[in-house]
Amino acid sequence: MTFFVSVFCAAVCLTGAQQQFTYENNGAENWPLEFPTCGGDRQSPIDVNRVTPADLGPFQFHNYHLPADITVTNMGHTAQATLNMGTPPTLTGGGLRAKYVLDQLHFHSGSEHTYEGTRYPMEMHMVHHNIKFRNFTEAVASGEEDAVAVLAFFFEVTHHPNLAWDNLVRALAHVKEPETSQQVFPPTPLCLWLPQDLSRFYRYYGSLTTPTCDQVVVWTLFSNDIPISHHQIATIGAAKVTSLFFLTNQFVVQLQLEQWRHLKTPTGNKQTNTFRPAQLRNGREILFNQGWWS
Ligand SMILES: [Zn+2]
Repeated sequence: MTFFVSVFCAAVCLTGAQQQFTYENNGAENWPLEFPTCGGDRQSPIDVNRVTPADLGPFQFHNYHLPADITVTNMGHTAQATLNMGTPPTLTGGGLRAKYVLDQLHFHSGSEHTYEGTRYPMEMHMVHHNIKFRNFTEAVASGEEDAVAVLAFFFEVTHHPNLAWDNLVRALAHVKEPETSQQVFPPTPLCLWLPQDLSRFYRYYGSLTTPTCDQVVVWTLFSNDIPISHHQIATIGAAKVTSLFFLTNQFVVQLQLEQWRHLKTPTGNKQTNTFRPAQLRNGREILFNQGWWS
């Protein structure tokens, strides 16, 4: 159990069909005009508050401990990378009702979810689809409320670099210009990028946070942060990319980074960052798995 809990991996949010949209000039406020589902009653993200204690059990992470051979390529506004993983990571447990396959991983600059009104500097999303579907697109098309499972992690800025992230940060420093690429070396298990204690998390049902905002996501927000230094963030920001895509034959890991905030900001500052503002909760319950020590 300890192994699986310590080798936690993250998922991401993804953009269902690469729809054109913007966060700038309150762009997210207008998404429902073009994408009606974005005006639905189970949208994400939301502010985490008034939670209900629950015992959802531990997650089991499969193949997240395998070294991921990743090459990052700057495609202009998008950087792409290849992950040579023959067996895609899968996820079970944690109260999920099925087995899920990792599709992609990405970041939002300025967290999407907030905790009692506090916004974190960055949020990572690891996106999985229910294994009964052939791929993410098919899962989204099903319209089922838990067709997609996203694991979300908040980042916290620290004075000391997070050595586990240095390989990715170093690679990004070499892809500042379009059409350049860099291997992430050494290959690193994705689980090493994650907090060791993954036993405390929040759970609710919501949507993709980008158009078309399909309400097909069972969300998991982990209580423990990922520490990362100012310098590392600055390096990521210097890559001049808004999105990174890690591609494998089985799944895509997408990173979306824009400007980095050095400090937490109050809820409501949403002008220049890659996060959607908090959506109405509309009576939805947020469960809190308190972990083993509560
Ligand atoms: Zn996302």
